Order: sequence, then C-alpha cells, then structure tokens
Amino acid sequence: MAQKPTVAIIGAGFSGVGMAIKLKQAGYDQITVFDKAPKVGGTWYWNTYPGCACDVPIQLYSYSFAPSGLWSHQYPRAPEIQAYIEKVVDDFAVRPLLRLNTEVKSASWNDSAKVWRLELADGTSHKANILVSALGQLDIPKWPEIAGRNAFAGPSFHSARWNWDVDLKGKRVAVIGNGGSAVQFIPEITNDVAQLDVYQRTPNYLVPRNDREVPMEERERLANNPWLLKASRELIYWRSDTLFWGVFKGSKWRVGLFENAAKKLRDDQIADPALRAKLTPDYPIGCKRILICDTYYPALQRPNVSLITDPIERIEQGAIVTNDATARPSDVIIYATGFDASHFGWSVDIVGQGGAHLKDVWRDGPEAYLGVMTAGFPNFLMLYGPNTNLGHTSILYMVERQIEYALKLLAPMSETGASRLEVRADAQARFNRLIQAELKASPWATACNSWYKTETGKITNNWPRSTQDYAKALKQVEWSHYAIA
Ligand code: NAP
Repeated sequence: MAQKPTVAIIGAGFSGVGMAIKLKQAGYDQITVFDKAPKVGGTWYWNTYPGCACDVPIQLYSYSFAPSGLWSHQYPRAPEIQAYIEKVVDDFAVRPLLRLNTEVKSASWNDSAKVWRLELADGTSHKANILVSALGQLDIPKWPEIAGRNAFAGPSFHSARWNWDVDLKGKRVAVIGNGGSAVQFIPEITNDVAQLDVYQRTPNYLVPRNDREVPMEERERLANNPWLLKASRELIYWRSDTLFWGVFKGSKWRVGLFENAAKKLRDDQIADPALRAKLTPDYPIGCKRILICDTYYPALQRPNVSLITDPIERIEQGAIVTNDATARPSDVIIYATGFDASHFGWSVDIVGQGGAHLKDVWRDGPEAYLGVMTAGFPNFLMLYGPNTNLGHTSILYMVERQIEYALKLLAPMSETGASRLEVRADAQARFNRLIQAELKASPWATACNSWYKTETGKITNNWPRSTQDYAKALKQVEWSHYAIA
C-alpha cells in the first residue's frame, strides 16, 4: 500500500467541508482546506442579506451523514444553516484542517513533480498532489454593465455582500434584479425604507413556499427518531425527483401543475391586473429558476414600493434613468444581479498541463466529464462543477455523489502508487456531445436568458437528467475514460 496523496481543497462551503470529512474518514491524513473567508459556510457565510433562507426543504439541504431534526423551519434562515455547518465541522473534527482567511490566487500543475502548487495571497505557497475545487458555481457576484454605474454618489452594494453599515431606514432605495436573492430580501426591507424601486428586466415564475415554524415537540420527535428523520428526507427527495423533476422532463401534467400554482399565486396575491401582467412571464416555466416564495408579491404592493419594468438606460450621481427618460432619485442602490456563473468566474487562476489556463480553455463555456474532471488538468477534481446544477432539488445530493466518486478515483493512488490521473479528452467530448444534445431539448434551452447558459446559449450549468441518473453514472468509475499512471 503506497502513501495516500496530499490534498488541497479550495473552498470551505458545504462541498469543501463534506470532502474533507470523507477524505479524513477514508484515512487521508494530509488535507488542507483553504478559504478566503474567516469562517466556513461558503455561500451561507457570504450571503447575509435580510431574509436569506434555503429554498430547498432543509431535510434534504443537509448532509445525509449528519442529519438534524432540530430545524426551526422547513426553509430555515442562513444563520441557522451557518450554525449547522459550524457544528458539523466540530462534530467531525475537521477544524484543524482549515486554513481560513487564506485566499488562493492561483494553482499550477507541475507535471514532472506531479504536484499542484498553490500561490496564496499572503505571498506563501502550498503544494499538494491533488487539487479539489469546492468553489461551486456561484462564487463571484456579478455587477451589471450599466452606463454610469460608478457615477452613483450614494452607497451601493451587491446582495451577496450586504453592507450592514448602510442604514436603509427612511431612504429611497433602488433594487436592480428580481431573482432568488431579491425576492427573499425585498419583503424584509419594505417596512424600513421610505421608497423602494424594484427594477425588473424579466418576470419570474413564483410558487408558494408555505413555510411554517416547526413546533418544538415536532423537532424533538424528529431529532430523537433517526428512522423518522430518514423517512422525511426520503419523502422530500422522491417528491422532488418525481413531481418537480417532471417539469423539466416536459411532463405535461406536471408542467400544468406548476404553471397553475404560479398563476394561482399571482391571481390570489396581485389585485391590479396591470401589475399582474407585468409579473407574468412570457417564456416556458422552468427556463429560469422557479422561485419558491409567497412574500414577494404582497411586498411589491405596499404603497412605498414601485415595480419598474422600463429598461435602465443609465445611472447618474443620485438617480436611475430609464429609457423613457424618467429619472428616479435614489439614496442607495442594491444590486441583486446574481453571479458570474455560466463562465464559472472563479477567483482562482487554475493552470494545468502545458501552462493552459482553465479560464482560457473554458472561454466558450466550461466543460467537464461528469462535472468532476476536465481534460488537460491532471489530479484536479471539481465539486458542483460544470453541468451538475439542478433546478428542482438539493445540490447537496449531487455533491455527496461527487465526493464518493472522487474517493473512488483517488483509490488507485494509495493502492498502486499511481501519481497522475487525467480524464481522456475523447471521453469528455463524447459525454458533452450527449448531454448537450439532451440539454437542447430541455426547458433551459427555451427563450429566456439565465445564469444557466452562456451568451451563445450553451447550457454550462445544469444536469439534463434526474439525480438518480447522476447517481447511477457515478456509481462506478469507467476506468477506460481515464489515463492513470
Ligand atoms: P439571479 O437569479 O441570476 O438574478 C439576477 C437578477 O438580476 C435577475 O432578475 C436579472 O434579470 C437581473 N439583472 C442582471 N443583470 C441585469 C442588468 N444589467 N439590468 C437589469 N437587471 C439585471 O441571481 P440571484 O437572485 O442572486 O440568484 C442566483 C441563484 O442563487 C439562484 O438561481 C439560486 O440558484 C441561488 N439562490 C439560492 C437561494 C436559496 O435559497 N437556496 C437563495 C438565493 C439565491 P434577468 O432575469 O432579466 O436576467
């Protein structure tokens, strides 16, 4: 038995922490998890906006190996999720593996030494045999290219970097964007602000969340009955992977069910037909992320809130000007404009075989094999990589399968002393031809813009099949698709 390889993981969110736990349990003893943040949690650390909550039922948005029955809500708020991941880190004793407050600037593969060399922002470096990206798909906040954005004199910030020093009380606030983040924080700030202008470019489909506080007896019952906890998780999983997944598979009755739920929410919650028309999408359901929220429409109808659908022409020192020449004064602008997702705008420069930069190789859109490895980048594994995002259920299900698969991929290194693993370019190309053909027939390919696809329409983020199909694909390693030496 050869020595186990050393592993560097970039990102201490759910993926990175999960990977560290499973590697540790498998006997790897040289694991380092880097994160630029001072805490673990990834997206749950960075997103502190008011009302930030999970929009996947929490039994499924937690590790299968660390179930908790004590959640206060079916869709808990970010601080509770942050507390959960902190507890998991301690319960599984992986805190000593963390290097927080440590930004990785770049990672370069040295093919003769068979190591990755990481350059850190503090000027030091770190070497490891295996590099794991746990940066996910939503790493870098995206700022819109709107003329005059930098001319704005008041405070402005991105929803994923909420500036709590800015007091919104009594202010005229503009929100640009109305996606999953905006619909969560807008209802939370309308009470405080003097005026809220919501700039919408495209309406979304919303279905009710129906959240409730879980009574203490129910939490205790779940926490004390592992079989009940497991059953509730299974139930949510199967409901999502059959009922909700049907929307993306084009099942007519399930598409109808969700379209009707979205229409009913609009009809029940929006009194003014003109406002309802503005909030009614004109593209097929599922093309953009379906938002699970029943507090947004009531918030939009408060007297101090306006929904603006005229396109923004420019931003001035103290106002936003739309293309009908109306200038609306603003004291604060909040950009809820999402993430640089379709190009995987990672903050780390990954340099593979022959000095190739991943961002150049992926110029026309990221590609990988099963979302886990990409040709030309030996010993580099990805969690929540290209084409592994979902529109209907918990990403943690996918990430756990990827972690299990990664451990299978790494096994020969300690069993046979192999030191170099790379996916074959032809296997990757075949895989991508197949999934891209399937994706062309998916609702994500229909007429809408979304963070799931590049400007040219290539869908780089989503997995085209069910999560069961993904689990099957990752159950065993097809070694003929890899070069191992
Ligand atoms: P998003 O869904 O990408 O929404 C960005 C919004 O900004 C859209 O409304 C977009 O309009 C608008 N926008 C972008 N550029 C613009 C411009 N130049 N001018 C005007 N409007 C512009 O981003 P997000 O709301 O941050 O959500 C991203 C993802 O994060 C979600 O889809 C979800 O996967 C995840 N998320 C999850 C949760 C959770 O509870 N688990 C919560 C929040 C977010 P268009 O629609 O026209 O592009």
